[in-house]
Amino acid sequence: MSGTAPGAPSPEGLTAPVVIAVDGPAAAGKGTLARRLAAELGLPYLDTGLLYRAVARRVLLGGGSPTDPAVAEAAARALEPEDLQRGDLRGPDVDQGASQVAAQPAVRAALLEFQRGFAARNGAVMDGRDIGTVVCPDARVKLFVTASAEARAHRRWLERQGRGESVPLEEVAAEMAVRDARDAARDVAPMRPAEDAVLLDTTGLDAEAAFGAAWLLVQARLGV
Ligand code: C5P
Repeated sequence: MSGTAPGAPSPEGLTAPVVIAVDGPAAAGKGTLARRLAAELGLPYLDTGLLYRAVARRVLLGGGSPTDPAVAEAAARALEPEDLQRGDLRGPDVDQGASQVAAQPAVRAALLEFQRGFAARNGAVMDGRDIGTVVCPDARVKLFVTASAEARAHRRWLERQGRGESVPLEEVAAEMAVRDARDAARDVAPMRPAEDAVLLDTTGLDAEAAFGAAWLLVQARLGV
């Protein structure tokens, strides 16, 4: 496996930074996969879901509603790097709040420039819902990572068990279904595969096998 950064400028300085988009629904394995690809390729990694989570957390801390457009936009515009380091960005309230603020055009607009700037600086592997369609439509590689609803709910349930939360599997599945439906149905930047995305179904694959499958696709596209 190559440790060199394919995004590094060629001697002629003509090579654009390499951007890899990893989109897909909740708990499909995007984050683990994207982080590993970034490490292998020596590229920066950005979990764009954290941006929406941090906006939702700001709104909730202020006592506001994530569905209030003015409050959500103000929170997005006030976002600071430290907001992304918080330890309370995972959990059911922020899961739903993130997806509610993410449905609002003004929130997405406020976060777009940061994401594009991150990708343009040194290239990046970025995971989210609209990286291949909206944020970086020229990404060199686009993966849309999916898994069955049952497999994804089970993974998220295991994660929550690991955090000491005792919650029925059915509740986790129902919460996830609401969020995925909202993310796919919104008017602005809905979750969907880009036309030139490669679909990767991780149902029945562990993290190692998912990485192996993705790595073959990435190598083929980048020629590394
Ligand atoms: O990926 P994660 O589950 O952390 O994302 C939380 C929420 O943020 C998603 O449910 C989605 O509503 C929103 N999101 C988005 N666009 C992205 C990344 C996340 O709308 N690029």
